[in-house]
Amino acid sequence: MKVVFNRNIYKFTHDYPAFAAFMTETELRQKYYFTYPTKNFYISSYVCPICGNQLFKTVFHNDFEIETEDGKILIPRIFTCGKCQAFFAPKPGYRLSSNNGYYLILPEKNYIEYLLTMDKVGSKIGRRNTLYNEPF
Ligand SMILES: [Zn+2]
Repeated sequence: MKVVFNRNIYKFTHDYPAFAAFMTETELRQKYYFTYPTKNFYISSYVCPICGNQLFKTVFHNDFEIETEDGKILIPRIFTCGKCQAFFAPKPGYRLSSNNGYYLILPEKNYIEYLLTMDKVGSKIGRRNTLYNEPF
């Protein structure tokens, strides 16, 4: 599947570091519209710039290559909104909140296919060798 990420045009102004600790992962996923069969995506501290829903993320221990308006880039992590079926990738070396990255919105079938492709090589364990080792 050939997809191209657009340059980010959104402002990431929300940052919610705290969650209801009593919620199970299943409950979190239902609450935040992320009921896809992934193993390596987990809830992040960012919300979707389109709809305000909490974003899920995965970390790539080997950089993942995406095609963007600016050409191919290698990313250490990606965020996604299950409600908008959108992906958000900060430029390497930037946080998502820097509003200096890329986004991609796909129809549901393609979204799930690409999500599961990323899930296969993603991880819930943070990386130490990138500029930001965000815990969420
Ligand atoms: Zn959204």
